[in-house]
Amino acid sequence: MKLLALRCPTCAQPFKPQNPEVVVLCCVWCGTAVSITDTGLNTMTIEFAAPAEAKFDAWVPLWVFNGRVTITSRQTQGRNKQAEQDAEQLWGYPRRLYVPAWDLPTEAVCQLGGDLVQRQPAFQPAVPPSQVTLVEAVITPEDALKLLEFVVFNVEAGRKDWLKELHFTIAAGAPQLWAIPAQRTGGEWRLQPLLPT
Ligand SMILES: [Zn+2]
Repeated sequence: MKLLALRCPTCAQPFKPQNPEVVVLCCVWCGTAVSITDTGLNTMTIEFAAPAEAKFDAWVPLWVFNGRVTITSRQTQGRNKQAEQDAEQLWGYPRRLYVPAWDLPTEAVCQLGGDLVQRQPAFQPAVPPSQVTLVEAVITPEDALKLLEFVVFNVEAGRKDWLKELHFTIAAGAPQLWAIPAQRTGGEWRLQPLLPT
């Protein structure tokens, strides 16, 4: 990676990223969301999800795709009608697909992404806060798309019918980056209970 002068394109204040892998951050001075690539810094749009409770520690970044997962083959060891039906029900429609973008082990990305896919929360956009504390994003949209495959696999492997083999395709457009209110507990970020939709 080229050494870039990391300055906010809007207010020219210097950025001091905590994580060397940072790909998206928010300027603490003016709130501008900026994506960092090998070729430079660009402003971008982030949606802020309306908090369910007034008190939270920070915003965490989450990629949200609108997409369609098509299971072409699902082989299992066990027979479980419910598991089959649940799989058909989940992937039978276009869905929102989620990939946490902050620094997390892949396993945790799969868990949280899978949990969100099954719950399908629709976030309510809020007015961007004047003081932004956004946890830095380290996952690019391209990496998020690759991680989605693990998310889908993780969901199917979690069903009670001993998944043996799974083939599927994912059709998804460009994702939107959402900032979600979160609490820091036990060294981990927990998404705030979200407003019912
Ligand atoms: Zn700025």
